[in-house]
Amino acid sequence: MPKPSRQPTPGRPRARATAGKRTDPALAAALDELAAANRVLARHGVLDAYGHVSVRHPGDPGRFLLARSRAPELVTAADIMIFDLDCNPARGDDRRPYLERFIHGEIYRARPDVIAVVHSHAPAVIPFAASSVPLRPLYHMASFLGRGAPVFDIAERFGKTDMLVRNAAQGRALAETLDGSEVALMRGHGYVAVAPTVARAVFRAIYTQLNAALQQQAIALGGTVKYLDPEEAALSDESNAGTIMRPWELWQRMAKG
Ligand code: MN
Repeated sequence: MPKPSRQPTPGRPRARATAGKRTDPALAAALDELAAANRVLARHGVLDAYGHVSVRHPGDPGRFLLARSRAPELVTAADIMIFDLDCNPARGDDRRPYLERFIHGEIYRARPDVIAVVHSHAPAVIPFAASSVPLRPLYHMASFLGRGAPVFDIAERFGKTDMLVRNAAQGRALAETLDGSEVALMRGHGYVAVAPTVARAVFRAIYTQLNAALQQQAIALGGTVKYLDPEEAALSDESNAGTIMRPWELWQRMAKG
């Protein structure tokens, strides 16, 4: 019987690219948490075959972790690559990265407070990126929207494109639109959600989608819609931060296996 091939295959990254990552406990934990975040977001329909989630490197704020170009539900810790903020992969890692990794690199550069970034095409959010109706916090679970959800229109600075954020200049323009908010919508494309932890970025990405669906229902009722005011939103966002580990534990358990 022939010996199994040691050649790399598309589903099986080379060992060399991940060598060393496991020797740093903080990095190993970050890789496992990010792999879990990929599965959680996929199970919630926030990510499908497209979209991605990243985390800043635990030992170096000038780098971040993001999976190779692979459907999020299939991502394991071994699929995760390390990039600098220019979005160059670690030396020797020649696996195929996501085209839109510049979303992540430029947000980390512009926002030192951001530790995790989710980029999604979740359907319920798309109408608000195309309409003059702003996405606003309809309920307490989406109170982070109280700091606004500005819309990034790639055409304003870059003319006709395929709508993807393909380079540093486009990523920088998106980060400028996001400014100090937790969510930015992307016309004809999707949205980004950011947070100071992976758990909270996942939470915000999930509840952005749910708020968008509920807001459409509230508008469809036809009366006047009363949203959380900025003070209510701020109080609620602080309160939600205190219970984040409850959904995070549940979601990770649901997404196992
Ligand atoms: Mn995209």
